[in-house]
Amino acid sequence: LEPKEEFEHSSLAVDVMRPRRGDPALAVLTQDGMTVEEVETLVESTHYSGFPVVVSQESQRLVGFVLRRDLLISIDNARKRQDGIVGASLVAFTEHSPPQPPEAPPFLRLRSILDLSPFTVTDHTPMDITVDIFRKLGLRQCLVTHNGRLLGIITKKDILKHMAQIANRDPDSILFN
Ligand code: ADP
Repeated sequence: LEPKEEFEHSSLAVDVMRPRRGDPALAVLTQDGMTVEEVETLVESTHYSGFPVVVSQESQRLVGFVLRRDLLISIDNARKRQDGIVGASLVAFTEHSPPQPPEAPPFLRLRSILDLSPFTVTDHTPMDITVDIFRKLGLRQCLVTHNGRLLGIITKKDILKHMAQIANRDPDSILFN
């Protein structure tokens, strides 16, 4: 992001985040309860670089963020090298594996690849502040919440596209100094 471009003050995180109205829902993983096969299917049915991990679909409370690349490598390694890991194994991003019946396949524990402190802004955060944070922290993406519930994601490319749109619509709204 160019350091000298300034943002129109009226844009908010909610205006730039995905999904937009009518888009497919945010692709999230739950911290437990999903099988290896379910995780693989979700990851392979999208091209996203990463996935928020939430407590549960109902709560949408954010636990962390996991990169697609790390997920695919870890699952692939576990399937090849870790005894008993099959499609039906449950994936756990939690600190402790939840109890399960003795005959069930072992858990695939993936907490080590989880970023436990992904950067978040609220939906009403002005975009000039969000852009500043992206620049200063060198972020690639940031999550958007409302009252503690995960709402969406903003990537660096989303910001660049939004800036380009504003520039097309109203060239005076971005100040090049
Ligand atoms: P980039 O924006 O650099 O292409 P991604 O491939 O991760 O990065 O994201 C592509 C688009 O999908 C972006 O508009 C982004 O906001 C959105 N996106 C990213 N991750 C997810 C996700 N897990 N669920 C839904 N949309 C996502």
